Amino acid sequence: MSTFHFELLDLPPAAETLRTEVREFLREHLGDQVAHQRARSWGGFDREFSRRVGARGWIGMLWPKKYGGHERSALERYVVLEEMLAAGAPVGAHWIADRQSGPLLLRFGTEEQRQRFLPRIARGELAFAIGMSEPDSGSDLASIRTRAEKVPGGYRVTGTKIWTSNAHISDYAISLFRTQVVPDKKHAGLTQFLVDLKSPGISIRPIYDLSGGHHFNEVHYQDCFVPDDMRVGEDGNGWTQVTTELALERSGPERYLSSIQLLIETIREAGKEPGERAAVTIGRLVAHLVTLRQMSLGVAGMLEAGQNPNLEAAVVKDVGTGFEQEIPEVIHALMGVEPRLSSGSQFERTLGYLVEHAPSFSLRGGTREILRGIIARGLGLR
Ligand SMILES: Cc1cc2nc3c(=O)[nH]c(=O)nc-3n(C[C@H](O)[C@H](O)[C@H](O)COP(=O)(O)OP(=O)(O)OC[C@H]3O[C@@H](n4cnc5c(N)ncnc54)[C@H](O)[C@@H]3O)c2cc1C
Repeated sequence: MSTFHFELLDLPPAAETLRTEVREFLREHLGDQVAHQRARSWGGFDREFSRRVGARGWIGMLWPKKYGGHERSALERYVVLEEMLAAGAPVGAHWIADRQSGPLLLRFGTEEQRQRFLPRIARGELAFAIGMSEPDSGSDLASIRTRAEKVPGGYRVTGTKIWTSNAHISDYAISLFRTQVVPDKKHAGLTQFLVDLKSPGISIRPIYDLSGGHHFNEVHYQDCFVPDDMRVGEDGNGWTQVTTELALERSGPERYLSSIQLLIETIREAGKEPGERAAVTIGRLVAHLVTLRQMSLGVAGMLEAGQNPNLEAAVVKDVGTGFEQEIPEVIHALMGVEPRLSSGSQFERTLGYLVEHAPSFSLRGGTREILRGIIARGLGLR
């Protein structure tokens, strides 16, 4: 049987210096944000904020300078991400492009696509959505049916994508379509495209979540023309590319920090002299947090060393999303207050937001069962 390992590492001095700069920036720009706004974490979407982050050089940090990147280290990037998440910064307008769409274009895109899109992403000017899931294809992504049929100069797309977060406020979606139907080989014949979400033939309809919020959408394509120069990679290479993209999607610290504002607020509420039960509960959660941070840093260290962290990243996402989901549950039981979205109490509102959103943490980016399948395969067990 294979195994996984997490290297314990210390951050280099350059990363710690950067941390101070990021904290100052966040104090300056988010000083007036209250807890329930911060609780939105990477779900918060603010284009102006993203432009400011871009201007500081904190988007596309690892990318070559010739594409607007900054050639910094994976550990420096990690520090920026964890500080943004710890502060509950509204990073949603650049998060997807920085995390997965940009790196995907860097690896599989054409030179023209890199030059056209990467500098604008790095400046925080372009928001990307993820066009993978379909009404009958979530976990079984290879079974997607949205068809991109070859026509002169491009492809004609017809079908439906679902759960597309922020499609209604984004510029582009990297989308997976079926360009060929290969009998009995569902992983073949898939291709990725850069789709301009304002294209004729696309209609975007909202799906409201439990609390009436709108970030999910259904994206309908009806004879939508996507030009050849917006195809990403080879026709038919979509499966290899999309699995690479999913590994990027799953590997960051957002997979254990989504409920951090509630923990911070609980520590504040408990005060300097917490009761025994509060001290034990908080101590246990903080111990888990510190351990997960070491594991997650280990994944960043593997990226820095040019190693493949897919197995370790799947472990962190599986354990990390369990932790994110446990925080609201445990704190609800500890504090004896009700989760209320319309409460006058910041604490109740923060709890309310997280109680409603926590169930989705272990679904987005691949469900628990799917991750455990990946872990089992990585360990040579299946
Ligand atoms: C907050 C949020 C944001 C999202 N944003 C996006 C987005 O922007 N773009 C996008 O494309 N998608 C997005 N999604 C969709 C997400 O990727 C899917 O929900 C996810 O892949 C699961 O697919 P499904 O919902 O169809 O569930 P299903 O695949 O139907 O799964 C239902 C249940 O069956 C289990 N299951 C399925 N297959 C197996 C198996 N082989 N073995 C064991 N158990 C199995 C699953 O684990 C799950 O518990 C988002 C989802 C959420 C919750």
